Amino acid sequence: MATTPDQESSAAPSFAQSECVFCARGEGAVAITRPKFLVRRCSQCAVMWCDPLRFSDVFNPDNEEAYLETHDALDGENQDRIEILMRAAPPSTHPTVLEVGCMHGDFLLRAAKEGYRGRGLDLSQTAVDHAAKTSPGLVEYGTLDERVADASVDVLAAFNVIEHMDAPHEFLAHAHRVLRPGGMLVLETPRQESIFHHIMFSRGRIFTNDKSVDIGVYPGSHIFKFGNRAWRTILSDRDFEVTSLQGKSTPLSQLFAKQKIPFATRVAIVSFNVLAKATRLENRLILTACRTP
Ligand SMILES: [Zn+2]
Repeated sequence: MATTPDQESSAAPSFAQSECVFCARGEGAVAITRPKFLVRRCSQCAVMWCDPLRFSDVFNPDNEEAYLETHDALDGENQDRIEILMRAAPPSTHPTVLEVGCMHGDFLLRAAKEGYRGRGLDLSQTAVDHAAKTSPGLVEYGTLDERVADASVDVLAAFNVIEHMDAPHEFLAHAHRVLRPGGMLVLETPRQESIFHHIMFSRGRIFTNDKSVDIGVYPGSHIFKFGNRAWRTILSDRDFEVTSLQGKSTPLSQLFAKQKIPFATRVAIVSFNVLAKATRLENRLILTACRTP
């Protein structure tokens, strides 16, 4: 899921965030200084985030347009996700799936073919309305709040959602609450252990263009950037056991759908993708983590 970057005109002090929300171990070191924001990194868990988290409280959850732009790649993406889910939590032991940020519910429909019983939540009213017509009862408007009963879910999934949250620690607290002991958390996010990240991170220290999203973080958009190390620390501190971490590249059709990209840049992107796969330094990861009793 992608969001539209917030308006930048009025920097609001209330969005300042100097401490890691996961560790509370003091101020995060400044990794990159931009003209209008900082990128901080926690010495404890290595998560990176924007300070301030947002420039304003303008929030556009209605990303149906972006979702439809990248719809062609979804079948392949959902196939990858299903294969990982079935290895980690097969429907015989984990029959119910709740997906947060599910848009039209395409993943849930794919999961149903394998025997899962799915239910989805989204904050896009147009996506919820669309799902109500095509798959009645599948998708509800809402978040993972008190309406989902404690220990009621076998699998909780969120694909490319948590990096957009300004309180991801609260999401994980709810995830732990709604999953039953032995339940499985399945997340997909951009990651730091990526060839793109390593190259752009060093470049970003030199060229401080405020518009740049070189390393994939920007206030109000991708607010947090996680990684293998971050997830292991953050989740073990919250009574989850990471059971798998798998690299995954953003589909080329999704990258190329976003804008007109010059031929030379396309060649570079394809080359990077091949290199990322060969070195196992893809730009995203899918993790599974079991809620311990
Ligand atoms: Zn931390």
